[in-house]
Amino acid sequence: MEKVPADRHAAVEVDPEEFRAIGHEVVNELADFLATLPQRPVARDEAPAQVRAALGTGPLPEAGSPPEALLRESIRLLAEHSLFNGHPRFWGYITASPTPIGALGDLIAATMNPNVGGWGLAPMASEIEAQTVRWIAQLIGFPDGCGGVLSSGGNVANFVAFLTARRAKAPWDVRQTGLRAGDGQLTAYVSAGTHTWIEKAADLFGLGGQAVRWIATDADRRMRLDALEDAITRDRQGGFIPFLVVGAAGTVGTGAVDPLPAIAELCRREDLWFHVDGAYGAFAAALPEACEDLKGLRDADSIALDPHKWLYSPLEAGCTLVRQPRHMIEAFSFHPSYFHFPEGDDPGVNFYEFGLQNSRGFRALKVWLGLRHAGRAGVIEMIRDDIALSRAMHEAAAAHPELRAATQDLSISTFRYVPGDLQEGDAETETYLNALNEELLTRLQVGGEAYVSNAVIDDTFLLRACIVNFRTRLADVQALPELVVRLGAAVDREMRPAPLS
Ligand SMILES: *Cc1c(COP(=O)(O)O)cnc(C)c1O
Repeated sequence: MEKVPADRHAAVEVDPEEFRAIGHEVVNELADFLATLPQRPVARDEAPAQVRAALGTGPLPEAGSPPEALLRESIRLLAEHSLFNGHPRFWGYITASPTPIGALGDLIAATMNPNVGGWGLAPMASEIEAQTVRWIAQLIGFPDGCGGVLSSGGNVANFVAFLTARRAKAPWDVRQTGLRAGDGQLTAYVSAGTHTWIEKAADLFGLGGQAVRWIATDADRRMRLDALEDAITRDRQGGFIPFLVVGAAGTVGTGAVDPLPAIAELCRREDLWFHVDGAYGAFAAALPEACEDLKGLRDADSIALDPHKWLYSPLEAGCTLVRQPRHMIEAFSFHPSYFHFPEGDDPGVNFYEFGLQNSRGFRALKVWLGLRHAGRAGVIEMIRDDIALSRAMHEAAAAHPELRAATQDLSISTFRYVPGDLQEGDAETETYLNALNEELLTRLQVGGEAYVSNAVIDDTFLLRACIVNFRTRLADVQALPELVVRLGAAVDREMRPAPLS
């Protein structure tokens, strides 16, 4: 006979009193970590093999271990071998310092563990997610009767909008019959600075990479309307089926904002879906002083935006808003026989009908808590401060004789190091300056004093700092030029080829 446990103590169970004790211990250690974070290196110069060796490479242990030791060990491993985007001098890519309240919210979310796929499985959590979506819409001036859903990040948030647009604008029933050869190629239009998600979406969702038209940009790296119009006209004449235009509310490279009101107008005229990729910049539309081009995202059919960027939510949190909620349901809803959910006038939102996921975690809580902790005024002030600090950084770079400030948009500033005795312009020197700045970037990233990434504009390799960081202060920003020039001079001494010197 097999053994049936009468009284069970499962291998992963933790008694409530023990949970209390080790939970306090974890929170204490994390508070110590936060207190010492500004003094730690932003990143470390460690190879994958070193990190792997620190972790150990043994097989899964046969026997379990006490949770307290495991938790302490995981905090130590991460604190000693990580890049810290919560550090005041982290300005790489577009990743935010995480809200402490969001971290604690994740603990609550995981402990309660609602499955926010169906309202009936997560009554309060579903209402909190619906309210979060509504508040995000209100914050940026989008109609709050919109549909919306949280997802893992900007990529998936954009995918949700892409699929909603494909279903709404394809002249046949794509959900039943797919993309049929002979019906004509569904075609999407995006600015040349658009994030790679669009290529991934065109590939994964069956249109193919050739279905994306990369529209030329102007001197400020904004989509050119005349080029967009020409491309649509040419494609219609060629038998293609334009369905989607994507405008950028802050490109990932330089923060450029496309002329969104004009694109919206064109899309209305041409009966095209107007999607705004605001993964980075959409939250800046909350600022009263935001430019009209950015505020034009209010005219979109859909918007993707990342709470884990400019709402500072801990990873992961993306969000899609769609003007007409029914468009999301029409794109995503299925009613399998094994679902039994309430119906009626107000059955509550079943979020599985609004996106790609079925079972869903409670990522809304950390976003909702961050919004409430800061309030609308607090959110606006943090974003405004990030922008002001980015401008201050740009001015500090412009003022330094050995730095060249290039672009500044939203909270992204780009610049490069040019040794004082070099004349810019000729091809050989430019090739050297690109190599020099690329190596300088590597030194900065492993040096641990500050963390930036890069942009390439018109074949020029630039250092790029993006401030979505509520911990950054003016002194941090003002320290960067001196650091860049100090490391740059050292790299230059090592790398300079003889003919240039
Ligand atoms: C960051 C970003 C994305 C991708 O978002 P993830 O959260 O990394 O998936 C897409 N578009 C823009 C404009 C972004 O800045």
